[in-house]
Formats: sequence, C-alpha cells, structure tokens
Amino acid sequence: MATELTGRVVLPGDPAYDKARENLNLYQSKFPGAIVFCQEEKDVLHALTFAREKGLPFRVRSGRHSYQNFSNLDGGLVIDISEMNEISVSVPTKTAKVCAGADLGKVYNTLWKYGLALPGGTEFSVGVSGVTLGGGIGYLSREFGLTCDHVERMRIVVPKGEKGAEIIEATKDENSDLFWACCGGGGGNFGIVTSFTFRTHPIDNVSVFKIDWEFDQLEDVFETWQNWAPFTDHKLTSTLELHAKSKNLIRSEGQFLGSKKRLIELIKPLLKDNKPRKVQVGSLPFNKAFNYFNEPSGNKPSFFKRSGSFVYKPIPERGISIMKRFLEHAPNEDAVIWQQSLGGAVSDVPPSDTAFFHRDAKIAQEYNTTWTNEEEARDNVQWVVALRKQMRRYTEGDYVNWPDETIRDWQQAYYGENVHRLRKIKTEVDPLNVFRFQQSVPPY
Ligand SMILES: Cc1cc2nc3c(=O)[nH]c(=O)nc-3n(C[C@H](O)[C@H](O)[C@H](O)COP(=O)(O)OP(=O)(O)OC[C@H]3O[C@@H](n4cnc5c(N)ncnc54)[C@H](O)[C@@H]3O)c2cc1C
Repeated sequence: MATELTGRVVLPGDPAYDKARENLNLYQSKFPGAIVFCQEEKDVLHALTFAREKGLPFRVRSGRHSYQNFSNLDGGLVIDISEMNEISVSVPTKTAKVCAGADLGKVYNTLWKYGLALPGGTEFSVGVSGVTLGGGIGYLSREFGLTCDHVERMRIVVPKGEKGAEIIEATKDENSDLFWACCGGGGGNFGIVTSFTFRTHPIDNVSVFKIDWEFDQLEDVFETWQNWAPFTDHKLTSTLELHAKSKNLIRSEGQFLGSKKRLIELIKPLLKDNKPRKVQVGSLPFNKAFNYFNEPSGNKPSFFKRSGSFVYKPIPERGISIMKRFLEHAPNEDAVIWQQSLGGAVSDVPPSDTAFFHRDAKIAQEYNTTWTNEEEARDNVQWVVALRKQMRRYTEGDYVNWPDETIRDWQQAYYGENVHRLRKIKTEVDPLNVFRFQQSVPPY
C-alpha cells in the first residue's frame, strides 16, 4: 500500500502557502509543490517514504535560515519539522532533549528557567538543527566549544533499501560514523534529525561590551582586534563588524563569563591606541544578553547574499586595505564584513574528531550584503563574490553553515581533509544519494 503524507500539508493555492513556503532569504526564493509540517516523528518517516516511493525531489527544513535556500526547492516536497519543537530538561544530568524543529530562542529561554545554557548562535530565530549539524559558533564558543560538541544523542530518519525509511539513534558508540558526520558535516546530507540530546552548562549573569569607532580607524582597530580577540581569556568571545563607509561604523561586541570589573581590564588593549566614539560595558542575566546583541525587531525575510571564510593567520596590512576598499565601494550601507573570534575550546578538539574541520582557525569571517529591490541583486552578489575572491590569499575555506553556491571547491572549503570520511559515510548511509542538493556530500 502506498504511503500517505501525514501532518499539516500546505499546497500551492492554499491561503497559507505563501507564508509556508518563504525562507528568510528572498533572493532566489523557491516555490515547492507541497510542504508537509510534520507534527511527530512518524510524519517524518512517512514524508521520506512518500517522497522515495513517488521519486519526488525533497528538502528538509527547520529554521529556514539557509543562506542558499538549500532547505527549499521548486516543485518538490519540503519536509518541515519546525512544528516539532518540544524541549525537556533533566536538571540532575544537565541535559536537554530538544525536538529538532526548535529555534535557538526557544532553546535558550527554556534552558534559562533551569539556569542552564547551550552554546550556539546569537540570533533567536535560527533553527537549532541547522546550527548544530554544521557546527554552531556563538558567544560561548571560546569557553565551551561548538554546539555540535554538546550533542550526546540524535534520533535520525534515514533511507532504508530501495524505497523505505527508518528511525535510528546515533551516539559516540552507536552508529558512531553517522554521529561524527552530523557533528559539523552540514544539514540535509544524511537523514532528517528529529531530536537532539544536548549537554548543557550552568549559567547566571554575564558581562557584555559594545565599542564603536569611526570608519577611518578601520586599519588600526582591525589590526589590534585580530591580535587580541582569539588570544584573550577563553571566557571572552567577541565579534568585530566593519560596516560600509557610508554608515561610518566599526563595532566590536563581546560577552564575558565573569565580572564587569574584569571585563573592563580585558578590553583595555582594544582601547589603548584606538580612541573609540562610544564604549558600553554592562552585566546582565544571560538570557537578556541576546536582546543586547540582537536587533529588537528580529530577523525579517529580506534579499541577501552572504559568504565567508576562516582566518588562520593574522591578515596583513594589504589584506586589511582590500577590506577597506571594498567597504568604501559597497553597494549600500548595509554591507558588512563580520568576524567572530575562535580559539579556546573550539580548537581544543582536533579537526578530525568531528566533521567540523576548521578547529584551528582563529577567526570566522563573513561577507554580507542585504538589499530591498530585486534589481539590486547583481551588484550585491558581485560585491560579495569579488570580496571573498580577493581575500582568499589571506583566508581559508568556508563555514558549511555559510554556504555559497559560487564556491567551486566547496567540498574542500567546508570540510578540508574530513571530506573523504564524510563521503565514505554518505556511501554507507545513503548510497542512492536520496539526500541530494546543489552542495550535498556526494557518495563515492
Ligand atoms: C540571521 C542569521 C544569523 C546566524 N547566526 C549564526 C550564528 O550566530 N552562529 C552560527 O553558527 N550560524 C549562524 N547562522 C548560520 C546558521 O547556522 C545556518 O544558516 C543554519 O544552517 C540555519 O539552520 P536552520 O535550521 O535555521 O535553517 P534551514 O534553512 O531550515 O536548514 C539549514 C540546512 O540544514 C538542513 N536541515 C534543517 N533541519 C534539518 C534536520 N532536522 N535534519 C537534517 N537536516 C536539516 C536543511 O536541509 C539545510 O540544508 C546564522 C544565519 C542567519 C541567517
């Protein structure tokens, strides 16, 4: 008997369709033939079996934040798990079982009630699934590591035989290769994760800072930050935003697991030779720090192009001038080059211990543009592509959670030497390449 879709199904023409199909990135937006909002694990099993029996192309979707809309497609089936978002916390073991459709806001706010935290990205609306499967960097990374370093168990719906699907569990000991691959190998490659069990950390108040400088100070501020941020106290993780010249803003923000007094000491090297326009330092409950760092309006769907790379060695003067030149000629004032300090607990784990390869990088660097009218796409995309190309001699690879369709050597860029093991695991778990998209891990 043919398998039917179960869950909330939305089809083109339904009043709910437009909202149901739309991802965060409106550039290259997609029009799927159907979207199934799974309500429980068996809906996911049915959806994968249904797609396989019908030979339907499909994509897996959770928080809808994929830069390249890899969680969406034209014409096929979107298997959306965002309505499976329950969280249960065990205080004695400091673990949380998180259904894979939860967003980071729900995870952080739930854990906070128990005085616990999961290291992850900063924006509330990002899906815990995509973040974890690709690695997961944020303001707790240098002290505790990546989000994927905190996974103890996953439940995953994987292909079975010619047309079927099955639910399996993966831990360090059970289906351990698949577990390894799902810790940094990127979403949508091997199966559909339905839940994660995470290790968490006790948390209370944190100290935060925000420093603003003028655009003209870019070279000096960048030079100081890059030699300070990845090497300072592990309890302090920070970012540096280089905005388009027309915005006249260079901003560093950071979060410290310690007192405000100690944070003021720690940021002194940043201020010594670079007179800031404004300095703010404060102490807040951990859950309030997200509002401090995020725009109060939250993320709204928009047109954007983003790409990235990792910085392993300090960028020399010539590289810094290239960034400045690009920002002087940015397509609009929303263009930004963003960096986050790594090191600390991120690099305590060897690159081959999980699929997340870029453990030894000092900085994650991102190139972003946002625009409002479709016809502005060309200039904005070209700006990002050209900037990344010019910076290649000073940087390495890219973060799989910042996918970019214009990267030709994307397998090497995202996975480095881990690509061989990933492809072997793909061959074992999904030999027929059922989980397939533009930049999915190919089987051998
Ligand atoms: C505004 C913004 C802020 C961000 N901030 C950070 C940050 O601070 N730190 C950071 O590390 N990253 C950050 N990112 C990048 C983010 O980690 C990736 O975009 C991530 O892939 C988003 O996951 P998602 O579930 O929201 O997206 P989706 O588009 O739903 O999915 C992303 C990918 O994962 C796959 N996938 C989704 N759910 C599952 C599942 N359950 N099982 C298997 N595959 C699945 C999809 O098929 C797709 O390939 C940010 C992105 C945006 C747009």
